[in-house]
Amino acid sequence: MSCLFCKIIAKEIPSKTAYEDEHLLAFEDLNPQAPVHILIVPKKHISTSLDIEEEDNELIGRMFRAANVIAKEKGIAERGFRTVMNCNREAGQTVFHIHLHLLGGRAMHWPPG
Ligand code: AMP
Ligand code: ZN
Repeated sequence: MSCLFCKIIAKEIPSKTAYEDEHLLAFEDLNPQAPVHILIVPKKHISTSLDIEEEDNELIGRMFRAANVIAKEKGIAERGFRTVMNCNREAGQTVFHIHLHLLGGRAMHWPPG
């Protein structure tokens, strides 16, 4: 098992947990790009968003609902926040285990860089 996020899920590599349930682990990004920057990661290994299958439909919904829970807990839900999933090289994906970035606590720019 060489996947970094699988190792974090297995607690072989430490992380600062923000949320955990049977299906998901969410933890603080090591290199935060906003005052709140959490990664919401399915415990199932899926390499990129291109690999999401029909059987994962519920799991993807769970990821967004966990983002809502965390955003409310962190006090950024009403102000606003951004959820991002990068896919492959030109989008800047560096870890090939899907993860939803939850970013907030500052004004976000559009279009994104
Ligand atoms: P992406 O570029 O969309 O694949 O996002 C990968 C994210 O993982 C980046 O924002 C990194 O800062 C973050 N990251 C890499 N290694 C770790 C780690 N050990 N713990 C927490 N976040 C990490
Ligand atoms: Zn993995």
